[in-house]
Amino acid sequence: MEKLSCIVAIPHLWLRQVVARIFEAARVKCHCVESMAELNQAVSDGEDRMVLVIVDVFSYTQYYRDIFAESKQKNPGLSILALVSTSNEGYRYELMTAGASAVVIKEEADEELFPALIKVLRDKKLNDAVARLLENQKQWITLIKEEVTELEKEEQKGALQSKLSRRTFLKASAVTAAATGAIAANPWGPGMKALVTASESPALVSEEKLVSSACRSNCFQSCRLNAHVRDGKLVKTTPAPWPDGEYTGCCLKGLSLVQRTYSPTRIKHPLRRVGERGEDKWEVISWDEAITEISEKFMDIQAKYGPKSLAFDIGSGNYGLVHGCLGIFNRLTNSIGCTKLNVCYDQATGYGADRVIGGSVWLWGNEPRTMMDAKTIIIWGSNPVYSQPQNWRILKEAQKNGTKVITIDPIYSATANKSDEYIPIVPGSDLMLALAMIKYIMDEDLIDVDFVKKRSTAPFLVRKDNGKVLRKSDFVSDIPAEEDDYYVWDSAANSPALLKEGPQDVAIEGAYTIQGVKVETVFTLLKNHVQEYTLEKASDYTKIPVEKIKDLVKAYVSGPTMIYTNYGIDHYQNGHLWSAAAFMMASLTGNIGVKGAGFTGLFVQNIPFNYVGMYVTNGKMADGTTLPQTEFYKAVRDQALEGKPYPIKAMYTTSSNSMSNWAQQNTWFTDILPNLEFNVVVDTELTDTARYADIVLPASFWFEVNDLRTAYNNPYIYMQEKAIEPLYESKPDAEIIAMIAHKMGLGQYFPKDMDDTDWIKVLLDSDDLRKMGITYDRLMEEKVVRGTGSAENPFVRGEAFFYTPTGRAQLYCENPLPRVNYGQDLTGIIEKERLPYFKPPGEAWRDNPLFAKYPLVFIQEHAKYRTHTQWYNVPLLRELDPEPLVKISREDAEIRGIKTGDIVEVFNDRGKAVVKAEVNDSISTGVISIPKGWQREQFIEGCFQELTNATSDPMAVNFAYFDCLVDVKKR
Ligand code: SF4
Repeated sequence: MEKLSCIVAIPHLWLRQVVARIFEAARVKCHCVESMAELNQAVSDGEDRMVLVIVDVFSYTQYYRDIFAESKQKNPGLSILALVSTSNEGYRYELMTAGASAVVIKEEADEELFPALIKVLRDKKLNDAVARLLENQKQWITLIKEEVTELEKEEQKGALQSKLSRRTFLKASAVTAAATGAIAANPWGPGMKALVTASESPALVSEEKLVSSACRSNCFQSCRLNAHVRDGKLVKTTPAPWPDGEYTGCCLKGLSLVQRTYSPTRIKHPLRRVGERGEDKWEVISWDEAITEISEKFMDIQAKYGPKSLAFDIGSGNYGLVHGCLGIFNRLTNSIGCTKLNVCYDQATGYGADRVIGGSVWLWGNEPRTMMDAKTIIIWGSNPVYSQPQNWRILKEAQKNGTKVITIDPIYSATANKSDEYIPIVPGSDLMLALAMIKYIMDEDLIDVDFVKKRSTAPFLVRKDNGKVLRKSDFVSDIPAEEDDYYVWDSAANSPALLKEGPQDVAIEGAYTIQGVKVETVFTLLKNHVQEYTLEKASDYTKIPVEKIKDLVKAYVSGPTMIYTNYGIDHYQNGHLWSAAAFMMASLTGNIGVKGAGFTGLFVQNIPFNYVGMYVTNGKMADGTTLPQTEFYKAVRDQALEGKPYPIKAMYTTSSNSMSNWAQQNTWFTDILPNLEFNVVVDTELTDTARYADIVLPASFWFEVNDLRTAYNNPYIYMQEKAIEPLYESKPDAEIIAMIAHKMGLGQYFPKDMDDTDWIKVLLDSDDLRKMGITYDRLMEEKVVRGTGSAENPFVRGEAFFYTPTGRAQLYCENPLPRVNYGQDLTGIIEKERLPYFKPPGEAWRDNPLFAKYPLVFIQEHAKYRTHTQWYNVPLLRELDPEPLVKISREDAEIRGIKTGDIVEVFNDRGKAVVKAEVNDSISTGVISIPKGWQREQFIEGCFQELTNATSDPMAVNFAYFDCLVDVKKR
């Protein structure tokens, strides 16, 4: 008999075992492997005649082409049977062209896998093996039946006794097996079991309740969801329709929320640490014990070291307006005058935009539907296919209708792949590209003169002696601020004029002397300023050919052109300058304030909620202090800020996994934790941050509370109603805050009879909202109400005016202020920042001597199946993206002798991350990426966030995650 062998690379234990047993019965030796490295090894080592590899490709790697090619090179007679998660003809075709002999959909494996095996072996003329397999065909069916029967036995009664289809069973058991490593155990309890049966029993449909809900993660899609509830259990989440169907949708993360709700690792009770911090040793304590201890320690520490010694950190893990980061938490921090940490994750883009169009760091994007009117969309440093799938759908629709899509990115992302044109760029050089584009636009007279004259500050006059904009008060004293008009040059009259006096025509270029004061127009100042940013220089910095930059400019100015951006470029120390330059470029060319132009990627509405009613307790805000997260570790380490004493001794963290999401993670171990006397974390899972707490409190999850949400990236306000009771001993965030407040003697500000519905009513108690027709009763009835724009006229930022003091787009920032002023040294910086200039990235730049030691720029891409660290342990998604990987270009890998599947160490002076490597043709040479969001325990050693650099630009005060150099070596 021939000695045949086969390799089975399937992560799902149950399916892998079934296949192994089939082969065993057919006397085909079977090697089960768990990783691509093991697969490579097995292909090389096989002593017997290796005939077949069965590989669940997408659970291991997307770079199957390399794997297939390598396997076949080592063993030319090999056949490959590929398992995939979804029925998609495109995948099937891709896999077949990559070398697969057959493709089987995993969910259909019970029906498809066996015939496919037989066909492959028959094709190889291994008829003996086929005969033996056929002999054992019955065993295949029996194995499946056995498993179904076992699961059915576990079910209790009623709904749960309904028959499972094989398809559902395979799906559910695969998830279960992946999560637990056991075949029959089902850790999900009734909730998961109900999910399994949800779509199978029509008899139950009538009993199902649909509850208006929301995905409240920090994903800027804010999908509206239906929570399907049966017998008090959440059984399913599905997309709920928005009035404007363009926005309806949800991703796999939204569909997997039942698994997050009933996660077996959810924090179920208040916990007190009994081992060392991080040792993961806990005792369960009562709520009363927990709240008493927290409140007493907070009061003691504040009494001993001052109010600021207690720091509250709230992240973006919950966007509820009552329970989340914009909610009642702020009422407590305002009552006790503590330190409140200022979010520094993604502030540079908005900060730069604010300099030009005003409106704070959030109000810069258009309603996404306006993309449908764009002639060209430039996706600049963003990957909406992964990070904003609903926006991508609209963008794709625009593309189908003829809009040209160009992507600029150092990574050939999924978005780049689907664009009409991809322009690779050196990381951190985007600012140089924008400045050179401005110069070329100005030199070639490609500006929109009418727009520039009427809607920008281009005609304003700037004093050469002090850089201030010339005003009436320069010549007349005691002018009230509202009458202090700007001077311009009336070119018709050839004399200076005050803007309000309505000069016939304003000059945008020129230098003048007015009453002895030398001035030049903002336009001239800007034009002269950008002269050093030539196309040749930009080409050298960005590695984009000069002609390509010219083409890009041509496409941009023949608009309407929209720039789709988000936080890719935000993550360099020069991110705010890029953003200011990009908004100026839009203002020079009239590509803003009109349909199809401007910017999108983050659309936030300015809704006049009654935040004062929510946040203010006693008629005045307490004397709290805002401390940027970027400065926190230094302040705790030194117990001082910018040389002044600043003792910080206690911390309360909620809706945030800060240890994982702030840059330079090791500072937690060296500088923060050793100096904190007391650390409290509120969450639903034992995240990296929660593991290092002294007390952990279990928060109720999104479906267990009532809340109100304003959508990002669509124009709605919507109700999220409680779908199920809080699970285990968890409590809603607002209730936890109120309990602490009561024990701290602030009960009068948190009345016991007020629940989350009452706080929603407080938020909606606003005359401005009433004028807009937005009331609690209407929201309860309709669940979702448009807050801005209309279906016919989607909201366009700056259509009527910009949120600047003049209502115009500012091409010159007379008095640039830092985003957060914490006393930093700004000597010599303020004047420089009046106009955008090329400032190289702080670390990740070729001129940095550190580059010789660490030649790779480390980027943490937005992951498809995680939003920051949320969903990091959801089995359904781990099936698709099971473990951290570092993506490295072919060239960089070859230099270091690295192959896909090798264990490698990514390192720099700050830390390391030990992971499997994936040689990846989408990554530019000189760049390396670990998609973000994994927890420390999920790495072989270290963590991706150990590598990053907490140094921030003193004006933008923002983590510059991608401004980071590393190297990588094989372990
Ligand atoms: S993660 Fe984002 S895209 Fe997915 S359901 Fe939630 S809001 Fe929607």
